[in-house]
Amino acid sequence: MASLCKYAATCPVFTTALGPLPHIGLRYRRAYCRGGWGECARFKVAEAAGRAAVPAGLLPNELQAVRELVTAP
Ligand code: SF4
Repeated sequence: MASLCKYAATCPVFTTALGPLPHIGLRYRRAYCRGGWGECARFKVAEAAGRAAVPAGLLPNELQAVRELVTAP
């Protein structure tokens, strides 16, 4: 059984506070929060730079933003 991301309890994507459309949020939760969290942009930034560095609106598939957020001075 897939494990749940350790940030799920307070992550706006998982708690549904974020998401342009409900079905998109559901897709994110299935693809990332319930097992694919290692590939999530939010997870990657939180792990590398701390949760405070994760922009509120960052979506799990916005991987292009990770490098910039993690390496920004
Ligand atoms: S996988 Fe990403 S979007 Fe899902 S709870 Fe973890 S940090 Fe949030």
